[in-house]
Amino acid sequence: MTSPTSYQQNITEFPVRNIEKIHLPKDLEALKTILLQAGESNRPVYPISTGHNWGLGSRMPVNDADIIDLKHLNRIIEVNRELRYARVEPGVTQQQLYDYLEVHAPELMLNVTGSDSGSSILGNIVDRGSGKSGHRAEDLRELTVMLADGQLIRTGFGELQGSQGSFYKYGLGPDLTHLFTQSNYAIVTEAVVNLRVKQPFNLYLAVLDKSGLKGFLNKMAELVAQELVGYSLEIDSQNDPKIYELFESGKDFNDKWFAWFVVTGHEEVLPAKHSVVTKALGSLVAELKAYPSSDDHSSSTPPVRVRIDRYHGQPNDHSLLATARKFGVELSGKEVNLDLYPQIPGFRCVLPVIPFTGASSDIIQYLESFSKSRGLDPAISIIALNDYSLEVFVRVYFDRSDQSAISQAGTWARDLLSELKQQGIYPYRLDIENMAPYLQELKNPYTLLQCQLKNLFDPNNIIAPGRYS
Ligand SMILES: Cc1cc2nc3c(=O)[nH]c(=O)nc-3n(C[C@H](O)[C@H](O)[C@H](O)COP(=O)(O)OP(=O)(O)OC[C@H]3O[C@@H](n4cnc5c(N)ncnc54)[C@H](O)[C@@H]3O)c2cc1C
Repeated sequence: MTSPTSYQQNITEFPVRNIEKIHLPKDLEALKTILLQAGESNRPVYPISTGHNWGLGSRMPVNDADIIDLKHLNRIIEVNRELRYARVEPGVTQQQLYDYLEVHAPELMLNVTGSDSGSSILGNIVDRGSGKSGHRAEDLRELTVMLADGQLIRTGFGELQGSQGSFYKYGLGPDLTHLFTQSNYAIVTEAVVNLRVKQPFNLYLAVLDKSGLKGFLNKMAELVAQELVGYSLEIDSQNDPKIYELFESGKDFNDKWFAWFVVTGHEEVLPAKHSVVTKALGSLVAELKAYPSSDDHSSSTPPVRVRIDRYHGQPNDHSLLATARKFGVELSGKEVNLDLYPQIPGFRCVLPVIPFTGASSDIIQYLESFSKSRGLDPAISIIALNDYSLEVFVRVYFDRSDQSAISQAGTWARDLLSELKQQGIYPYRLDIENMAPYLQELKNPYTLLQCQLKNLFDPNNIIAPGRYS
C-alpha cells in the first residue's frame, strides 16, 4: 500500500493532517466501493486528481481524512474536433492531452496553466484555477460526479440520450455544473473542457516603471475589452523567480514590472492589430518587444520560449525548474514534485481577485507595503482571468528548515487575508489552512445555503470535510 507520509510532505509546510490510508481506485466501481465503505465507517475521504496543489495544500486534506488519489483514472474519453472539446478523467495530465492532440487533432489546443506538465486538467478546473488564456472555470462545459451514495450524475445535457456531443453546456433548468467546482458535494469523475483552435499570435514583453502600472492597466483593460489583446496578461515583479533568466544579461531592471500578453489573429489581421497595440502602449512602457509565434525561438531566453510554447497549448515545467534553479537546486527526473525537495524554499501565497482597472494598482502597492512592513519581500504576479477580473498571486518564500520563517510566512498570509477583507478584497482561492477560519467569518445567508446543499448531497459529511465550507 502507498505510504501516507509522502502525501503529508508539502512545499508550504502546513501542519500535517492525519491520513491513514491512500486509496488508488482503478475504475468507477472501485471508487464507489471506497465511498460506500467510507460512509459505513464514518471515515472521511479527500479526492485529489494529481495532487499538485502547491501553495494551497499540495496533496493534504483540509481536515484529517484518507486520500482518494484518482491518478489511475486517466482516460481521455473523447476528443471532438468539430465541437472542440475533450472529455477527460481526473488523472489526465496537461502533457497527456497535449501529446494526444498533437497526433489526433493538431489544430486544437488546451488553455494550459503555468504549473507543471504533469498536473491535472480536471483538478485544476474544479479548484477554479487560471490558465494562460483566462479563467479555467470558463473552459468547463459539463461534469460527471459521483455522490456520497455512489450515484453518478452528469450535468448539462449529459443525462439525455441521443445527444450529438457536448454543444450546449447549460442543459435545461437550474445549471448545476459549478455546484461541483470549489466544492465538497461530490467526487468529480469526468470533465468536458473547451479546446481552442490554434492561431498565429505575437507574444509581447513590456517593461514598465513601477509608477507606470496604473496607466498601463487602464490601457490594457481597454485593449482587452476591445478584443485586441486576449485574456493573456501576466505582469511579474522583478523578484519573481520564474523570470530570473531575463536578468542574466546583467542589464539593470531595478524597480520595474514585466508584462507579458498575446495578440492573436489570422496572419493578415495580425500586423494591423500589432500597429494599434504598439501605438496605444508606446508612451506607457519603457520597452516593448514582440515575438511572433511564426519565428524560431529556439535561441530566445527561456521565459520567452516557454510562453510561446504555452500559447501553442504546450505545457512545460519551466516555472518550477526556474524557481528551483534560482535557489541553486537542479530538479531532475520525470516527475517534478516540489513537495519532495526540502532544499527548495517553501512559499505561502494569497490570491486576491481584483477589478481589471488602473485603480487596482493601489491594491498592488498595498500588498507590497504590507509585506515590507513585516520585513518580507513579496513576489507578485498579476494575471487576467477575463476582461474584468485580475488574479493576484502574491507570495513569500522561506527556508523550509527554519521554524520561525515558516511561522512568519503563515502569519503574513493570515493577516494579509484579514486586512484585505477589511478593504472588501477577497481571494479567488484559499489554502487548506485559511479555508475554515476565513469562511467561518464570512458567514451569511449565501454560505448558509451552501451548507444546506452540502447536507443534501453528503449528509454524513464524508467527502472532503472543510473544503470551501
Ligand atoms: C510554479 C507554480 C506555478 C503554478 N501555476 C499555476 C497556474 O498557472 N494556474 C493555476 O491555476 N495554478 C497554478 N499553480 C498551482 C497548482 O500547481 C495548480 O493549480 C495545479 O493544477 C493543481 O494541482 P492538480 O491539477 O494536481 O489538482 P489537485 O491537487 O489534484 O486538485 C486540487 C484540489 O481540487 C480538489 N479536487 C481534485 N480532484 C478532484 C475531484 N476529482 N473531485 C473533487 N474534488 C477534486 C481537491 O480538493 C484538491 O485539493 C502553480 C503552482 C506553482 C508552484
